[in-house]
Amino acid sequence: MGDPLRRQVSALVASLRPWLFLAAVLGLISALGLGGILRLLTLGFGLLILAPVVISGAAQWWLRRNWVSGPCPVCGQTVQGLNQTQTQCPSCLEPLQVSAGRFERLTPPGTVDVQAVDVPTPEVPPNP
Ligand SMILES: [Zn+2]
Repeated sequence: MGDPLRRQVSALVASLRPWLFLAAVLGLISALGLGGILRLLTLGFGLLILAPVVISGAAQWWLRRNWVSGPCPVCGQTVQGLNQTQTQCPSCLEPLQVSAGRFERLTPPGTVDVQAVDVPTPEVPPNP
């Protein structure tokens, strides 16, 4: 019941759309004047040009403050990461925590590092 009416209304709105747009533009020109429109366009273009510069400058400032580069506490390989995040050493795959501009091991407290030592076994003579 309401469906054909809705279709008629939407078709009417679609046919009126260019005229509504023209009326809106004319209303804007009459309200602001041509100088006001030009000022608005200049401001828009200025913002369009300035916004990327400001955003990239802020991103560089933030990266300079938070990008950490230093030796891995396990193998000494240079590791890079963001401050206050977790990362992994690309060389020894040790999970690391970046805090206060340094890399720290992410192992639970009390973990003891063990160095494996290869012990040579004496040759046992075969039984006669
Ligand atoms: Zn490492």
